[in-house]
Amino acid sequence: MNELFKSISKLKGVGEKRSLAYAKLRISTPYDLLYHLPRHYLDYTSPITIADAAFGEIAVLKLTIVSKFSPQHIRKGFSIYKAVATDGTDNITIVFYNTGYIFDTLNIGSEYCMSGKISGNIIKKEILSPHIIPADSKNLIRPVYRLTTGLTLSRITSDMQVAVDIFKREPFEWMPESILKDHSLMTLQDALPEIHFPSSMEKAAAARRRLAFDELLELQLGLSMYKKRSRSDSANKMREDTDITKFFEMLPFAMTNSQREAVDDICSDLAKSVPMNRLLQGDVGSGKTVVAAAACYFAIKNGFQAALMAPTEILAVQHYYTISKFLEPLGVKVDLLTGSVKSKERKSVIASAASGETGLLVGTHAIFQKDVEFLNLALVITDEQHRFGVTQRSMLAEKGGTPHKLVMSATPIPRTLALIIYGDLDISVLRELPGGRKPIETYAVTGKLRQRSYNFIKQQLSAGRQGYIVCPMIEENSGELQAAATYAEDIAQNAFSGYRVGLLHGKLSSKEKDAVMESFQKHEIDLLVCTTVVEVGIDVPNATVMLIENSDRFGLSQLHQLRGRVGRGKHQSYCILMTDHVTDESRQRLRLMSSTTDGFKIAEEDLKMRGPGDFFGQRQHGLPPLKIADLTKDMLLFEETKNLTREILEKDPELNLPEYRALRLEVLRLFALTAENGMN
Ligand code: ADP
Ligand code: MG
Repeated sequence: MNELFKSISKLKGVGEKRSLAYAKLRISTPYDLLYHLPRHYLDYTSPITIADAAFGEIAVLKLTIVSKFSPQHIRKGFSIYKAVATDGTDNITIVFYNTGYIFDTLNIGSEYCMSGKISGNIIKKEILSPHIIPADSKNLIRPVYRLTTGLTLSRITSDMQVAVDIFKREPFEWMPESILKDHSLMTLQDALPEIHFPSSMEKAAAARRRLAFDELLELQLGLSMYKKRSRSDSANKMREDTDITKFFEMLPFAMTNSQREAVDDICSDLAKSVPMNRLLQGDVGSGKTVVAAAACYFAIKNGFQAALMAPTEILAVQHYYTISKFLEPLGVKVDLLTGSVKSKERKSVIASAASGETGLLVGTHAIFQKDVEFLNLALVITDEQHRFGVTQRSMLAEKGGTPHKLVMSATPIPRTLALIIYGDLDISVLRELPGGRKPIETYAVTGKLRQRSYNFIKQQLSAGRQGYIVCPMIEENSGELQAAATYAEDIAQNAFSGYRVGLLHGKLSSKEKDAVMESFQKHEIDLLVCTTVVEVGIDVPNATVMLIENSDRFGLSQLHQLRGRVGRGKHQSYCILMTDHVTDESRQRLRLMSSTTDGFKIAEEDLKMRGPGDFFGQRQHGLPPLKIADLTKDMLLFEETKNLTREILEKDPELNLPEYRALRLEVLRLFALTAENGMN
């Protein structure tokens, strides 16, 4: 076996102890080490003069040591080491704290390149704990790596040199010659050494491009192969010509074109013998629920059962009422099961699902508890899936064998990201808002306009409308929670005395939340003060105004979700973004919010500003993480590899051709590794 794939403890000079430190970085072989890429580089190729080195900045200098002082031992465990150096234009003092071993390597009269922060004063500049290399070193561009306790930069760098040397002796390549040529890629043989010890910054960039290309291509090849595999299961095939016109006739409105298209997509999937795996993506208020109801009706007319799962009790209840209204007149039994359904009721719901009497069971994840069984469940719909944990989702997968699956998401995920994250799903998008809706007018204001904003809200309330005031709360922080309660109390007594003010926040029990929501829905509350709990799909068409306090605290996509709670009825709606924290960035963000209601555009911007990592927060999506490529910066590379993936798979769907054999192994390795790490 190639040395690169043995334990890293066997690498020259590493040993057991340091291999434990490497384990913390998830590095267990020299090969893993090779893929521990530099975060950035220290470029010693163009040093500046001492005179040009600015205070507080990191500078690269080329210095000759003039003299060394004796170390000052200030107290036990704290020593200062100083040396004076020159670059011919001026002198500078080099200062180290406690790192005598580096100080000891400096020789008077020798020349070094150094990189460090400049401090001191105008008369006497200092460079603090600099990184140092000999001026005659042949590697003038030095990698900087992510470190961990027990691993210093110089240790990793020298271990890396050993690993790179092994690779250079026995290089390999999985990319066919033709691809390298067509896409102007560096060979792996050049790319791995160059990414760690670049001969120029241009070479480093070319090496990175090659490795990012590998990563994006392998990810997409793997996803496509995986997709084929999961689709080979057989499913409950339904009749393509199932007539659901009765459903359309019964609706109090006409479906939009994109709703019709989505229903068509779904029904033709349901008529296939492989399970549907589709994402229904639609901006808030685009009408996903009706589409879901149509799909359920289609399945139920075929004699099957359907289940719809919502992430919260409030939403489940809301779906239950909405969908029963559509389906019960058509003779479908719709049931509700959540954590707070009483045991007697629960028994009868369970019995009805097991007997097949229930057509559609709506609920929270309670519908997938052990004792809930279906006679013939064929369609499972999840709303706002990004709010479910991995465990709930796998529970769901187990339950129905291989039911058709529809996922609804109100997060307008940028296309590129959706393809990566939901790579094994088909996508339907609801692009238009149902007719008659006027785009929400949005205004960004500071606290100076608070009184005017309140007056504006009062006008709306007096005209018979309702409103929201959102106070941001960081989860689990009782101080802020208190702030929302105090806020509600205050405005109820002062600014909004005479109006009915309610309070909704995450710390209420689900029963209390439901009670508040119900009063708001029944218009027993005029103005609802709430934390972000309203973000999830609440539907009160009479609510026409929302004021968001400290709006700079929210991400753009989240603001967009919040704002979507108004503008759901026939009245013109308004959103006021209040903030006193005005920076250029926040101004730019709020201006974007005022200028567009296009969720996809907002999501693209959000992605640009925050990056894909933050976009989904801690969400696990079960894919190999992108370690090299960056979706916000590598869009072009992504397109290039996407097209190539399609070309390759058209020619050779299983990557069995000899030219793709090495690539195939690499793809399998990548995905097997991911499964091993428990990320699938
Ligand atoms: P979301 O996609 O946010 O889940 P909903 O399904 O809750 O949207 O729909 C928002 C509102 O629009 C609901 O009150 C729904 O009844 C209504 N609606 C849905 N489709 C149409 C349509 N084609 N025409 C008019 N109103 C519609
Ligand atoms: Mg919804």
